[in-house]
Amino acid sequence: MRLLFLGTGAAEEVPSVWCACAKCRRIRELGGRNRRRNACAFLEPDVVIDHPPTLTSQAWDAGVDLSAVRHLVFTHGHMDHFYPHLFRWRLGDGREEPQGGAPVVPRYGQLPLLFVYGSEKLLDDVAASLRGSTPEALRMALCPVRAGQSFAVGSYRFTAIPANHPVPGDVSFNYLIEDQAGRALLYGLDGGTPPEEAWELLEGRQLDAVILDATTGFTGHGAASNHMSLHDVREVVARLRKIGALAPGSRVVLSHINAHHWPPHDEAAPRVEREGMILSYDGMWLEL
Ligand SMILES: [Zn+2]
Ligand SMILES: [Zn+2]
Ligand SMILES: [Zn+2]
Repeated sequence: MRLLFLGTGAAEEVPSVWCACAKCRRIRELGGRNRRRNACAFLEPDVVIDHPPTLTSQAWDAGVDLSAVRHLVFTHGHMDHFYPHLFRWRLGDGREEPQGGAPVVPRYGQLPLLFVYGSEKLLDDVAASLRGSTPEALRMALCPVRAGQSFAVGSYRFTAIPANHPVPGDVSFNYLIEDQAGRALLYGLDGGTPPEEAWELLEGRQLDAVILDATTGFTGHGAASNHMSLHDVREVVARLRKIGALAPGSRVVLSHINAHHWPPHDEAAPRVEREGMILSYDGMWLEL
């Protein structure tokens, strides 16, 4: 299993988009791994998790061809994870590429189905964003997901784990991802300390890696109940070990980083590493 972090930042990105504080100015100077865009991921060979507004450029920079993606899995409907407004460009009539001057249609050629997974409410919002077109016309299959449900995503098996991350009128999911070789990964974005229903679903699992929400980092104890600080992360990792869900050698990876609760990546990564964890960065591969 190979997962590529296309983005590892919280909603306002890192540096924070409109902020000119000393921390954000420093990150702009440093660049490189210190800069982060909205959290989302590519899972080889053809799965994307979440669609932030800048997914197209994030994928381009990482060398991922979105037209070859067959499965799009949504965690929740916050705007840094959910931007359905590009789906309308999937509209086309199946014509081959034009030879000369041609009528303008958004795309040419046949398009394979794109399977889109998420809560029922989130998929209603996808359908409402299609401007009178239908998922069928756009070669999309909307697949509603319920908490606790396991379902196939290409060759993977996903299980929707309820997340501690309120969205008005909707639910948020983390995902347990298993491949055919028996490797297992928990994609834990976004979320505060997991609710008891999540722990019930994780009981008895053997996770090779967990990706955890560490939005509020070093300075954020109690800063947000719907995201985690390092203090919260340590408690979650301890409980995962206690129930035997984290085997020795399994990896703990932190993501969804906020500019103001963390030092720049160059400083923070060695500190996190000393605790036996990995601080992700945009463009990082996780291989299990
Ligand atoms: Zn988020
Ligand atoms: Zn700032
Ligand atoms: Zn969120």
